[in-house]
Amino acid sequence: MNELTELYQEIILDHNKRPRNYRGIDKATHSAEGHNPLCGDEISVSLRLNGDQIEDISFQGEGCAISKASASLMTTLIKGKSLQSAKEKSSVIKQMLTSSEEPDDSLEELGDIIALSGVRRFPVRIKCATLAWHTFEAALNGKKETTTE
Ligand code: ZN
Repeated sequence: MNELTELYQEIILDHNKRPRNYRGIDKATHSAEGHNPLCGDEISVSLRLNGDQIEDISFQGEGCAISKASASLMTTLIKGKSLQSAKEKSSVIKQMLTSSEEPDDSLEELGDIIALSGVRRFPVRIKCATLAWHTFEAALNGKKETTTE
């Protein structure tokens, strides 16, 4: 195992053990449930959109280390971001996770989430890593009306 793989492993284990933003949300405007039958991962993602900004985002659920770490990393990456920026990240990351090519330097700005790029070598685990992002997008597309109270 090379140094980079070890570092990636550490990030994933850390987020699995101490998932960030693993909780509910007050006055969530959007939420969705995601299920990966291949592995049994089940998560729900909730967020609160204020204007164009994702003010808060959280997840809950049960799943393998990859699915949990992916959801945890996702929330840290897009919390506080604009909707546009979050959607762009979502598409870049889904591509990174399913691409046959090594991630290039442009992905470095995404930070720790690049640790998940290793799943590309394990096709059966890819859905574990993309689940949170699909669920996030489902939440955005599902409940469109914003709670104003
Ligand atoms: Zn899984």
